[in-house]
Amino acid sequence: AIDFGIDKALDILGVKPINNGTSTGTNSFGSGDLISSYSPVDGKLIAEVKATNLEDFEKVLITASSAFKTWRLMPAPQRGEIVRQFGDKLRDKKEALGKLVSYEMGKSYQEGLGEVQEMIDICDFAVGLSRQLHGLTMHSERPGHRMYEQYHPLGIVGIISAFNFPVAVWSWNTALAWVCGDVTIWKPSEKTPLCGIACQNIATEVFKANNLPEGISCLVNGDYKVGEFISKSSQIPLVSATGSTRMGKIVAQDVAARLGKSLLELGGNNAIIVTPDADIKMTVIGAVFGAVGTAGQRCTSTRRLIIHESIYDKVKNALVEAYKQLRIGNPLNESNHVGPLIDKEAVTMYTNALNKVVAEGGHLVVEGGVLHGEGYESGCYVKPAIAEAKPDYKIVQHETFAPVLYLLKYSGDVQNAIQIQNNVVQGLSSAIMTNNLREAEHFLSVAGSDCGIANVNIGTSGAEIGGAFGGEKETGGGRESGSDAWKVYMRRQTNTINYTANLPLAQGIKFHL
Ligand code: NAD
Repeated sequence: AIDFGIDKALDILGVKPINNGTSTGTNSFGSGDLISSYSPVDGKLIAEVKATNLEDFEKVLITASSAFKTWRLMPAPQRGEIVRQFGDKLRDKKEALGKLVSYEMGKSYQEGLGEVQEMIDICDFAVGLSRQLHGLTMHSERPGHRMYEQYHPLGIVGIISAFNFPVAVWSWNTALAWVCGDVTIWKPSEKTPLCGIACQNIATEVFKANNLPEGISCLVNGDYKVGEFISKSSQIPLVSATGSTRMGKIVAQDVAARLGKSLLELGGNNAIIVTPDADIKMTVIGAVFGAVGTAGQRCTSTRRLIIHESIYDKVKNALVEAYKQLRIGNPLNESNHVGPLIDKEAVTMYTNALNKVVAEGGHLVVEGGVLHGEGYESGCYVKPAIAEAKPDYKIVQHETFAPVLYLLKYSGDVQNAIQIQNNVVQGLSSAIMTNNLREAEHFLSVAGSDCGIANVNIGTSGAEIGGAFGGEKETGGGRESGSDAWKVYMRRQTNTINYTANLPLAQGIKFHL
Protein backbone atom coordinates (compact mmCIF):
# COMPACT_ATOMS: atom_id res chain seq x y z
CA ALA A 1 0.00 0.00 0.00
CA ILE A 2 1.18 3.52 -0.76
CA ASP A 3 0.68 5.69 2.27
CA PHE A 4 2.47 8.89 1.27
CA GLY A 5 2.67 11.09 -1.80
CA ILE A 6 5.53 11.84 -4.16
CA ASP A 7 6.32 15.14 -2.40
CA LYS A 8 7.00 13.29 0.84
CA ALA A 9 9.13 10.76 -1.07
CA LEU A 10 11.23 13.57 -2.59
CA ASP A 11 11.62 15.06 0.88
CA ILE A 12 12.79 11.74 2.39
CA LEU A 13 15.30 11.35 -0.46
CA GLY A 14 16.64 14.92 -0.24
CA VAL A 15 15.59 15.79 -3.79
CA LYS A 16 14.99 19.57 -4.06
CA PRO A 17 13.25 21.62 -6.77
CA ILE A 18 16.71 22.44 -8.21
CA ASN A 19 19.63 20.05 -7.54
CA ASN A 20 23.36 20.17 -8.15
CA GLY A 21 23.97 17.37 -10.61
CA THR A 22 27.65 16.92 -9.77
CA SER A 23 28.61 15.38 -6.45
CA THR A 24 31.64 13.79 -4.85
CA GLY A 25 29.70 13.08 -1.65
CA THR A 26 29.02 15.90 0.79
CA ASN A 27 30.29 18.40 -1.79
CA SER A 28 27.99 19.06 -4.69
CA PHE A 29 28.12 21.61 -7.47
CA GLY A 30 26.75 22.13 -10.95
CA SER A 31 27.68 24.70 -13.56
CA GLY A 32 26.06 23.15 -16.62
CA ASP A 33 22.62 23.55 -18.19
CA LEU A 34 19.43 22.69 -16.34
CA ILE A 35 17.87 19.27 -17.03
CA SER A 36 14.13 19.23 -16.33
CA SER A 37 12.68 15.91 -15.28
CA TYR A 38 9.04 15.44 -16.27
CA SER A 39 7.03 12.45 -15.09
CA PRO A 40 5.62 10.23 -17.84
CA VAL A 41 2.87 9.35 -15.35
CA ASP A 42 1.12 12.75 -15.46
CA GLY A 43 3.41 14.94 -17.59
CA LYS A 44 4.24 17.22 -14.64
CA LEU A 45 7.66 18.74 -13.93
CA ILE A 46 9.11 16.89 -10.91
CA ALA A 47 12.33 18.84 -10.33
CA GLU A 48 15.46 20.08 -12.12
CA VAL A 49 19.14 19.18 -12.08
CA LYS A 50 22.15 21.32 -12.99
CA ALA A 51 24.25 19.29 -15.40
CA THR A 52 28.00 18.66 -15.23
CA ASN A 53 30.40 20.61 -17.43
CA LEU A 54 33.99 19.70 -18.25
CA GLU A 55 35.42 21.81 -15.45
CA ASP A 56 33.11 20.11 -12.90
CA PHE A 57 34.08 16.74 -14.33
CA GLU A 58 37.77 17.43 -13.88
CA LYS A 59 37.20 18.31 -10.23
CA VAL A 60 35.38 15.01 -9.80
CA LEU A 61 38.30 13.09 -11.33
CA ILE A 62 40.78 14.68 -8.93
CA THR A 63 38.62 13.94 -5.88
CA ALA A 64 37.88 10.37 -7.00
CA SER A 65 41.58 9.62 -7.67
CA SER A 66 42.50 10.89 -4.26
CA ALA A 67 39.72 8.89 -2.54
CA PHE A 68 40.91 5.74 -4.28
CA LYS A 69 44.31 6.04 -2.56
CA THR A 70 42.61 5.78 0.85
CA TRP A 71 39.78 3.42 -0.01
CA ARG A 72 42.02 0.77 -1.58
CA LEU A 73 43.98 0.47 1.69
CA MET A 74 40.91 -0.43 3.73
CA PRO A 75 40.66 -4.25 4.07
CA ALA A 76 37.98 -5.65 1.75
CA PRO A 77 35.80 -7.05 4.61
CA GLN A 78 35.73 -3.55 6.14
CA ARG A 79 34.64 -2.14 2.79
CA GLY A 80 31.98 -4.86 2.87
CA GLU A 81 30.78 -3.47 6.22
CA ILE A 82 30.25 -0.06 4.54
CA VAL A 83 28.23 -1.74 1.78
CA ARG A 84 26.22 -3.54 4.47
CA GLN A 85 25.32 -0.17 6.01
CA PHE A 86 24.40 1.12 2.55
CA GLY A 87 22.04 -1.86 2.12
CA ASP A 88 20.43 -1.02 5.48
CA LYS A 89 19.89 2.60 4.41
CA LEU A 90 18.20 1.31 1.27
CA ARG A 91 15.91 -0.80 3.46
CA ASP A 92 14.93 2.36 5.38
CA LYS A 93 14.20 4.31 2.20
CA LYS A 94 12.78 1.50 0.09
CA GLU A 95 9.24 2.90 -0.22
CA ALA A 96 10.37 6.45 -1.00
CA LEU A 97 12.92 5.37 -3.60
CA GLY A 98 10.54 2.81 -5.12
CA LYS A 99 7.96 5.55 -5.46
CA LEU A 100 10.39 7.97 -7.13
CA VAL A 101 11.47 5.22 -9.57
CA SER A 102 7.82 4.63 -10.43
CA TYR A 103 6.97 8.32 -10.83
CA GLU A 104 10.10 9.41 -12.75
CA MET A 105 10.46 6.32 -14.98
CA GLY A 106 6.84 5.15 -15.21
CA LYS A 107 7.14 1.50 -14.12
CA SER A 108 4.63 0.16 -11.59
CA TYR A 109 5.15 0.91 -7.90
CA GLN A 110 5.59 -2.86 -7.33
CA GLU A 111 8.37 -2.91 -9.91
CA GLY A 112 9.89 0.23 -8.36
CA LEU A 113 10.00 -1.55 -5.01
CA GLY A 114 11.37 -4.64 -6.77
CA GLU A 115 14.18 -2.57 -8.22
CA VAL A 116 15.15 -1.28 -4.77
CA GLN A 117 14.95 -4.86 -3.44
CA GLU A 118 17.48 -5.83 -6.13
CA MET A 119 19.78 -3.10 -4.80
CA ILE A 120 19.44 -4.50 -1.27
CA ASP A 121 20.11 -8.04 -2.53
CA ILE A 122 23.26 -7.08 -4.41
CA CYS A 123 24.54 -5.32 -1.27
CA ASP A 124 24.06 -8.54 0.72
CA PHE A 125 25.81 -10.47 -2.05
CA ALA A 126 28.70 -7.98 -2.06
CA VAL A 127 29.12 -8.15 1.72
CA GLY A 128 29.76 -11.90 1.51
CA LEU A 129 31.92 -11.38 -1.54
CA SER A 130 34.14 -8.96 0.37
CA ARG A 131 35.63 -12.01 2.13
CA GLN A 132 35.90 -14.07 -1.05
CA LEU A 133 37.91 -12.07 -3.59
CA HIS A 134 40.01 -15.19 -4.14
CA GLY A 135 42.82 -15.87 -6.54
CA LEU A 136 44.27 -19.34 -7.30
CA THR A 137 47.55 -20.86 -6.19
CA MET A 138 49.60 -22.89 -8.67
CA HIS A 139 52.52 -25.30 -8.43
CA SER A 140 55.74 -23.70 -9.61
CA GLU A 141 57.97 -25.74 -11.96
CA ARG A 142 61.00 -24.43 -10.06
CA PRO A 143 62.06 -25.94 -6.71
CA GLY A 144 61.62 -23.74 -3.64
CA HIS A 145 59.23 -21.39 -5.41
CA ARG A 146 55.68 -20.46 -4.66
CA MET A 147 53.28 -19.11 -7.27
CA TYR A 148 49.86 -17.57 -6.80
CA GLU A 149 47.60 -14.86 -8.18
CA GLN A 150 45.85 -12.02 -6.44
CA TYR A 151 43.27 -9.41 -7.35
CA HIS A 152 43.83 -5.71 -6.71
CA PRO A 153 41.40 -2.84 -7.23
CA LEU A 154 41.42 -1.10 -10.59
CA GLY A 155 40.81 2.55 -9.67
CA ILE A 156 37.91 4.65 -10.92
CA VAL A 157 34.98 2.78 -12.45
CA GLY A 158 32.78 4.87 -14.77
CA ILE A 159 29.11 3.87 -14.89
CA ILE A 160 26.81 5.03 -17.70
CA SER A 161 23.24 3.81 -17.26
CA ALA A 162 19.91 3.64 -19.09
CA PHE A 163 16.55 5.10 -18.06
CA ASN A 164 14.70 1.81 -17.64
CA PHE A 165 16.51 0.55 -14.54
CA PRO A 166 17.36 3.95 -13.11
CA VAL A 167 18.69 2.74 -9.75
CA ALA A 168 19.41 -1.02 -9.80
CA VAL A 169 22.04 -1.00 -12.55
CA TRP A 170 24.05 1.57 -10.60
CA SER A 171 24.05 -0.63 -7.49
CA TRP A 172 24.91 -3.80 -9.44
CA ASN A 173 28.08 -1.97 -10.39
CA THR A 174 28.82 0.03 -7.24
CA ALA A 175 28.20 -2.68 -4.63
CA LEU A 176 30.78 -4.91 -6.35
CA ALA A 177 33.17 -2.09 -7.31
CA TRP A 178 33.23 -0.72 -3.75
CA VAL A 179 34.01 -4.05 -2.06
CA CYS A 180 36.66 -4.60 -4.74
CA GLY A 181 38.29 -1.31 -3.59
CA ASP A 182 37.31 0.84 -6.56
CA VAL A 183 35.68 4.26 -6.50
CA THR A 184 32.85 5.10 -8.90
CA ILE A 185 31.65 7.94 -11.11
CA TRP A 186 28.05 7.51 -12.27
CA LYS A 187 26.21 9.22 -15.09
CA PRO A 188 22.55 8.26 -14.90
CA SER A 189 20.26 8.62 -17.91
CA GLU A 190 19.29 12.21 -18.63
CA LYS A 191 15.70 10.92 -18.57
CA THR A 192 15.92 9.87 -14.90
CA PRO A 193 18.37 12.29 -13.22
CA LEU A 194 16.42 12.55 -9.95
CA CYS A 195 16.84 8.83 -9.25
CA GLY A 196 20.57 9.54 -9.52
CA ILE A 197 20.39 12.44 -7.03
CA ALA A 198 18.40 10.28 -4.58
CA CYS A 199 20.84 7.34 -4.74
CA GLN A 200 23.87 9.59 -4.35
CA ASN A 201 22.28 11.20 -1.27
CA ILE A 202 21.80 7.77 0.31
CA ALA A 203 25.40 6.73 -0.41
CA THR A 204 26.73 10.05 0.90
CA GLU A 205 24.99 9.56 4.27
CA VAL A 206 26.82 6.26 4.72
CA PHE A 207 30.29 7.43 3.64
CA LYS A 208 29.96 10.57 5.78
CA ALA A 209 28.83 8.67 8.89
CA ASN A 210 31.98 6.55 8.57
CA ASN A 211 34.31 9.54 8.09
CA LEU A 212 35.39 8.28 4.72
CA PRO A 213 36.86 10.69 2.16
CA GLU A 214 34.93 12.54 -0.52
CA GLY A 215 34.95 10.86 -3.92
CA ILE A 216 34.26 7.15 -3.28
CA SER A 217 30.82 7.58 -4.85
CA CYS A 218 30.58 10.36 -7.42
CA LEU A 219 27.69 11.55 -9.56
CA VAL A 220 27.73 13.49 -12.82
CA ASN A 221 24.70 14.43 -14.91
CA GLY A 222 23.98 15.30 -18.50
CA ASP A 223 23.41 13.77 -21.91
CA TYR A 224 25.77 11.75 -24.12
CA LYS A 225 28.41 14.50 -23.98
CA VAL A 226 28.92 13.86 -20.26
CA GLY A 227 28.98 10.13 -21.05
CA GLU A 228 31.83 10.91 -23.43
CA PHE A 229 33.79 12.63 -20.65
CA ILE A 230 33.76 9.21 -18.97
CA SER A 231 34.43 6.99 -21.98
CA LYS A 232 37.30 9.20 -23.21
CA SER A 233 39.02 9.74 -19.86
CA SER A 234 42.32 7.85 -19.59
CA GLN A 235 41.97 8.07 -15.79
CA ILE A 236 39.01 5.68 -15.84
CA PRO A 237 40.31 2.13 -16.38
CA LEU A 238 36.85 0.51 -16.59
CA VAL A 239 33.66 1.88 -18.16
CA SER A 240 30.45 -0.05 -17.48
CA ALA A 241 27.80 1.11 -19.95
CA THR A 242 24.16 0.01 -20.09
CA GLY A 243 21.90 1.16 -22.90
CA SER A 244 21.27 0.79 -26.60
CA THR A 245 23.55 -1.08 -28.99
CA ARG A 246 23.97 2.20 -30.88
CA MET A 247 25.44 3.80 -27.74
CA GLY A 248 27.54 0.71 -26.91
CA LYS A 249 29.26 0.73 -30.28
CA ILE A 250 30.39 4.34 -29.75
CA VAL A 251 31.43 3.88 -26.12
CA ALA A 252 33.31 0.64 -26.91
CA GLN A 253 35.36 2.41 -29.58
CA ASP A 254 36.10 5.44 -27.39
CA VAL A 255 37.26 3.21 -24.55
CA ALA A 256 39.23 0.89 -26.85
CA ALA A 257 41.01 3.86 -28.44
CA ARG A 258 42.76 4.37 -25.09
CA LEU A 259 42.96 0.61 -24.38
CA GLY A 260 40.63 0.83 -21.42
CA LYS A 261 38.25 -1.96 -20.40
CA SER A 262 34.55 -1.80 -21.09
CA LEU A 263 31.64 -3.79 -19.69
CA LEU A 264 28.71 -3.48 -22.08
CA GLU A 265 25.06 -4.32 -21.31
CA LEU A 266 23.15 -3.46 -24.50
CA GLY A 267 19.93 -4.21 -26.35
CA GLY A 268 18.08 -7.52 -26.54
CA ASN A 269 15.60 -9.17 -28.89
CA ASN A 270 14.39 -11.88 -26.58
CA ALA A 271 12.28 -14.86 -27.63
CA ILE A 272 10.29 -17.61 -26.00
CA ILE A 273 10.08 -20.87 -27.93
CA VAL A 274 6.74 -22.62 -27.37
CA THR A 275 6.87 -26.29 -28.31
CA PRO A 276 4.00 -28.79 -28.67
CA ASP A 277 4.88 -30.04 -25.17
CA ALA A 278 4.53 -26.61 -23.52
CA ASP A 279 2.20 -25.92 -20.60
CA ILE A 280 -0.01 -23.34 -22.34
CA LYS A 281 -1.24 -21.70 -19.14
CA MET A 282 2.32 -21.05 -17.92
CA THR A 283 3.32 -19.92 -21.39
CA VAL A 284 0.60 -17.27 -21.50
CA ILE A 285 1.46 -15.88 -18.05
CA GLY A 286 5.19 -15.79 -18.88
CA ALA A 287 4.68 -14.25 -22.30
CA VAL A 288 2.20 -11.57 -21.19
CA PHE A 289 4.32 -10.47 -18.23
CA GLY A 290 7.45 -10.58 -20.42
CA ALA A 291 5.87 -8.50 -23.19
CA VAL A 292 3.85 -5.88 -21.28
CA GLY A 293 5.66 -5.65 -17.90
CA THR A 294 7.42 -2.26 -17.55
CA ALA A 295 5.46 -1.41 -20.75
CA GLY A 296 7.93 -3.55 -22.72
CA GLN A 297 10.86 -1.39 -21.60
CA ARG A 298 13.06 -4.07 -20.06
CA CYS A 299 16.22 -5.16 -21.81
CA THR A 300 14.88 -8.70 -21.19
CA SER A 301 11.28 -7.99 -22.34
CA THR A 302 9.78 -10.71 -24.52
CA ARG A 303 9.73 -9.43 -28.12
CA ARG A 304 9.19 -12.67 -30.08
CA LEU A 305 7.17 -15.83 -29.48
CA ILE A 306 8.28 -18.73 -31.68
CA ILE A 307 5.33 -21.11 -31.59
CA HIS A 308 4.97 -24.59 -33.09
CA GLU A 309 2.33 -24.68 -35.83
CA SER A 310 0.37 -27.45 -34.07
CA ILE A 311 -0.48 -25.20 -31.09
CA TYR A 312 -0.13 -21.82 -32.79
CA ASP A 313 -3.83 -20.90 -32.87
CA LYS A 314 -4.42 -22.09 -29.33
CA VAL A 315 -1.58 -19.92 -27.96
CA LYS A 316 -2.61 -16.95 -30.11
CA ASN A 317 -6.23 -17.07 -28.93
CA ALA A 318 -5.21 -17.41 -25.29
CA LEU A 319 -2.95 -14.36 -25.63
CA VAL A 320 -5.64 -12.26 -27.29
CA GLU A 321 -8.01 -13.13 -24.41
CA ALA A 322 -5.34 -12.30 -21.80
CA TYR A 323 -4.61 -8.91 -23.42
CA LYS A 324 -8.30 -8.00 -23.03
CA GLN A 325 -7.82 -8.13 -19.23
CA LEU A 326 -4.93 -5.62 -19.20
CA ARG A 327 -5.55 -2.35 -17.38
CA ILE A 328 -3.46 0.56 -18.60
CA GLY A 329 -2.96 3.65 -16.46
CA ASN A 330 -1.17 5.37 -13.59
CA PRO A 331 1.53 2.91 -12.46
CA LEU A 332 1.28 4.15 -8.87
CA ASN A 333 -2.21 2.68 -8.82
CA GLU A 334 -1.57 -0.97 -8.04
CA SER A 335 -4.62 -2.24 -9.92
CA ASN A 336 -3.09 -1.19 -13.26
CA HIS A 337 -0.90 -3.65 -15.19
CA VAL A 338 0.71 -1.32 -17.75
CA GLY A 339 2.10 2.18 -17.17
CA PRO A 340 3.36 4.78 -19.64
CA LEU A 341 6.37 4.75 -21.97
CA ILE A 342 9.24 6.99 -20.91
CA ASP A 343 8.45 9.90 -23.27
CA LYS A 344 6.70 10.93 -26.47
CA GLU A 345 9.73 9.98 -28.56
CA ALA A 346 9.25 6.40 -27.33
CA VAL A 347 5.57 6.62 -28.31
CA THR A 348 6.60 7.61 -31.85
CA MET A 349 8.99 4.64 -32.03
CA TYR A 350 6.16 2.35 -30.91
CA THR A 351 3.77 3.74 -33.54
CA ASN A 352 6.44 3.46 -36.24
CA ALA A 353 7.05 -0.19 -35.33
CA LEU A 354 3.35 -1.03 -35.71
CA ASN A 355 3.24 0.73 -39.09
CA LYS A 356 6.38 -1.06 -40.24
CA VAL A 357 5.23 -4.55 -39.30
CA VAL A 358 2.03 -4.01 -41.28
CA ALA A 359 3.98 -2.55 -44.23
CA GLU A 360 6.20 -5.64 -44.27
CA GLY A 361 3.15 -7.92 -44.48
CA GLY A 362 2.40 -8.55 -40.81
CA HIS A 363 -1.05 -8.71 -39.27
CA LEU A 364 -2.06 -7.08 -35.98
CA VAL A 365 -4.10 -9.50 -33.86
CA VAL A 366 -4.17 -7.02 -30.96
CA GLU A 367 -4.28 -3.58 -32.52
CA GLY A 368 -2.55 -1.27 -30.07
CA GLY A 369 -2.75 2.53 -30.28
CA VAL A 370 -1.98 5.66 -28.28
CA LEU A 371 -4.33 6.55 -25.41
CA HIS A 372 -5.82 10.01 -24.94
CA GLY A 373 -8.12 11.66 -22.44
CA GLU A 374 -8.43 11.63 -18.68
CA GLY A 375 -5.55 9.96 -16.89
CA TYR A 376 -3.47 9.88 -20.09
CA GLU A 377 -2.55 13.60 -20.23
CA SER A 378 1.21 12.92 -20.44
CA GLY A 379 0.68 11.46 -23.91
CA CYS A 380 2.94 8.50 -23.04
CA TYR A 381 0.35 5.72 -22.58
CA VAL A 382 -0.02 3.10 -25.32
CA LYS A 383 -1.95 -0.15 -25.68
CA PRO A 384 0.16 -3.31 -25.81
CA ALA A 385 -0.01 -4.84 -29.30
CA ILE A 386 0.49 -8.29 -30.83
CA ALA A 387 1.44 -8.83 -34.47
CA GLU A 388 1.73 -12.01 -36.52
CA ALA A 389 4.97 -11.68 -38.44
CA LYS A 390 7.83 -13.52 -40.18
CA PRO A 391 11.23 -13.95 -38.50
CA ASP A 392 13.16 -12.09 -41.19
CA TYR A 393 11.09 -8.87 -41.22
CA LYS A 394 13.42 -5.92 -40.57
CA ILE A 395 11.24 -4.67 -37.72
CA VAL A 396 11.25 -8.10 -36.06
CA GLN A 397 15.05 -8.12 -36.22
CA HIS A 398 15.11 -4.73 -34.47
CA GLU A 399 14.62 -4.02 -30.73
CA THR A 400 11.59 -1.72 -30.29
CA PHE A 401 11.53 -0.57 -26.66
CA ALA A 402 7.75 -0.80 -26.24
CA PRO A 403 5.01 -3.41 -25.65
CA VAL A 404 4.93 -4.97 -29.13
CA LEU A 405 4.97 -8.77 -29.30
CA TYR A 406 5.63 -10.67 -32.56
CA LEU A 407 4.15 -14.14 -33.11
CA LEU A 408 6.31 -16.35 -35.33
CA LYS A 409 5.38 -19.85 -36.45
CA TYR A 410 7.74 -22.82 -36.76
CA SER A 411 7.26 -26.35 -38.01
CA GLY A 412 9.24 -29.56 -37.60
CA ASP A 413 11.48 -30.07 -34.59
CA VAL A 414 12.91 -27.72 -31.98
CA GLN A 415 16.10 -27.12 -33.96
CA ASN A 416 14.09 -25.04 -36.42
CA ALA A 417 12.79 -22.86 -33.59
CA ILE A 418 16.29 -22.44 -32.15
CA GLN A 419 17.57 -21.35 -35.54
CA ILE A 420 14.90 -18.63 -35.72
CA GLN A 421 15.61 -17.53 -32.18
CA ASN A 422 19.38 -17.25 -32.76
CA ASN A 423 19.05 -15.56 -36.12
CA VAL A 424 19.12 -11.97 -34.78
CA VAL A 425 22.07 -9.72 -33.97
CA GLN A 426 21.19 -9.48 -30.25
CA GLY A 427 21.91 -12.23 -27.69
CA LEU A 428 20.55 -11.32 -24.27
CA SER A 429 17.72 -13.49 -22.94
CA SER A 430 15.90 -16.56 -24.27
CA ALA A 431 13.47 -19.17 -23.02
CA ILE A 432 11.81 -22.44 -23.99
CA MET A 433 8.44 -23.62 -22.71
CA THR A 434 8.38 -27.42 -22.84
CA ASN A 435 7.90 -30.47 -20.66
CA ASN A 436 10.00 -32.52 -23.06
CA LEU A 437 13.45 -33.23 -21.63
CA ARG A 438 15.04 -33.70 -25.06
CA GLU A 439 13.83 -30.33 -26.27
CA ALA A 440 14.87 -28.55 -23.07
CA GLU A 441 18.38 -30.06 -23.07
CA HIS A 442 18.80 -29.39 -26.76
CA PHE A 443 17.91 -25.74 -26.16
CA LEU A 444 20.58 -25.49 -23.43
CA SER A 445 23.24 -27.46 -25.35
CA VAL A 446 26.13 -26.18 -27.43
CA ALA A 447 23.78 -26.29 -30.43
CA GLY A 448 21.06 -24.44 -28.53
CA SER A 449 20.41 -20.84 -27.55
CA ASP A 450 23.30 -18.44 -28.20
CA CYS A 451 22.15 -15.96 -25.52
CA GLY A 452 23.72 -14.97 -22.19
CA ILE A 453 20.52 -16.08 -20.46
CA ALA A 454 18.63 -19.27 -21.40
CA ASN A 455 15.63 -20.35 -19.30
CA VAL A 456 13.40 -23.41 -19.24
CA ASN A 457 9.73 -22.97 -18.31
CA ILE A 458 10.33 -19.36 -17.19
CA GLY A 459 9.90 -16.26 -19.38
CA THR A 460 12.76 -14.09 -20.61
CA SER A 461 12.46 -11.22 -18.15
CA GLY A 462 13.31 -10.90 -14.49
CA ALA A 463 16.74 -12.20 -13.55
CA GLU A 464 18.08 -12.94 -10.06
CA ILE A 465 21.18 -11.10 -8.82
CA GLY A 466 23.01 -14.34 -7.94
CA GLY A 467 23.74 -15.22 -11.56
CA ALA A 468 26.02 -13.31 -13.92
CA PHE A 469 23.84 -11.02 -16.04
CA GLY A 470 24.53 -10.07 -19.66
CA GLY A 471 24.41 -11.20 -23.25
CA GLU A 472 26.35 -12.06 -26.38
CA LYS A 473 26.74 -10.57 -29.87
CA GLU A 474 25.40 -7.01 -30.12
CA THR A 475 24.25 -7.18 -26.51
CA GLY A 476 27.90 -6.45 -25.78
CA GLY A 477 29.34 -9.51 -24.02
CA GLY A 478 29.59 -7.98 -20.52
CA ARG A 479 28.56 -9.71 -17.29
CA GLU A 480 27.37 -7.91 -14.19
CA SER A 481 25.96 -8.80 -10.78
CA GLY A 482 26.46 -12.33 -9.38
CA SER A 483 28.71 -15.35 -9.97
CA ASP A 484 32.29 -14.18 -10.71
CA ALA A 485 31.28 -10.91 -12.42
CA TRP A 486 33.36 -9.11 -9.75
CA LYS A 487 36.58 -10.07 -11.55
CA VAL A 488 36.13 -7.37 -14.19
CA TYR A 489 36.31 -4.72 -11.44
CA MET A 490 39.81 -5.83 -10.40
CA ARG A 491 43.25 -6.27 -11.93
CA ARG A 492 44.85 -9.70 -11.73
CA GLN A 493 48.47 -10.14 -10.72
CA THR A 494 50.54 -13.33 -10.87
CA ASN A 495 53.21 -13.54 -8.16
CA THR A 496 56.19 -15.92 -7.96
CA ILE A 497 58.30 -16.03 -4.81
CA ASN A 498 61.67 -17.77 -4.55
CA TYR A 499 62.49 -18.90 -1.01
CA THR A 500 65.86 -20.57 -1.83
CA ALA A 501 69.38 -19.18 -2.18
CA ASN A 502 69.50 -20.14 -5.88
CA LEU A 503 68.04 -18.48 -8.96
CA PRO A 504 66.79 -21.24 -11.30
CA LEU A 505 65.20 -19.90 -14.48
CA ALA A 506 61.89 -21.02 -15.91
CA GLN A 507 61.85 -23.49 -18.84
CA GLY A 508 65.22 -24.85 -17.57
CA ILE A 509 67.17 -22.05 -19.27
CA LYS A 510 70.81 -21.84 -18.19
CA PHE A 511 72.46 -18.42 -17.90
CA HIS A 512 76.01 -18.68 -16.48
CA LEU A 513 77.90 -15.60 -15.35
P1 NAD B 1 20.58 4.98 -24.56
O1 NAD B 1 21.61 4.20 -25.28
O2 NAD B 1 19.83 6.02 -25.28
O3 NAD B 1 21.25 5.70 -23.28
C1 NAD B 1 21.94 4.98 -22.28
C2 NAD B 1 22.97 5.86 -21.61
O4 NAD B 1 24.05 6.10 -22.52
C3 NAD B 1 22.45 7.25 -21.21
O5 NAD B 1 22.99 7.58 -19.95
C4 NAD B 1 23.00 8.14 -22.31
O6 NAD B 1 23.17 9.49 -21.91
C5 NAD B 1 24.34 7.49 -22.59
N1 NAD B 1 24.93 7.75 -23.92
C6 NAD B 1 24.27 7.82 -25.10
N2 NAD B 1 25.14 8.02 -26.11
C7 NAD B 1 26.38 8.07 -25.56
C8 NAD B 1 27.70 8.27 -26.08
N3 NAD B 1 27.90 8.46 -27.37
N4 NAD B 1 28.74 8.25 -25.23
C9 NAD B 1 28.55 8.05 -23.90
N5 NAD B 1 27.32 7.89 -23.34
C10 NAD B 1 26.25 7.89 -24.16
O7 NAD B 1 19.57 3.90 -23.92
P2 NAD B 1 18.18 4.12 -23.16
O8 NAD B 1 17.13 4.53 -24.11
O9 NAD B 1 18.39 4.92 -21.91
O10 NAD B 1 17.88 2.62 -22.66
C11 NAD B 1 17.27 1.64 -23.44
C12 NAD B 1 18.29 0.65 -23.98
O11 NAD B 1 19.08 0.12 -22.93
C13 NAD B 1 17.65 -0.55 -24.65
O12 NAD B 1 18.35 -0.85 -25.83
C14 NAD B 1 17.85 -1.67 -23.61
O13 NAD B 1 17.83 -2.98 -24.14
C15 NAD B 1 19.15 -1.31 -23.05
N6 NAD B 1 19.37 -1.89 -21.74
C16 NAD B 1 20.20 -2.97 -21.64
C17 NAD B 1 20.39 -3.58 -20.41
C18 NAD B 1 21.28 -4.78 -20.27
O14 NAD B 1 21.61 -5.10 -19.15
N7 NAD B 1 21.68 -5.44 -21.33
C19 NAD B 1 19.75 -3.08 -19.27
C20 NAD B 1 18.92 -1.97 -19.41
C21 NAD B 1 18.74 -1.39 -20.65
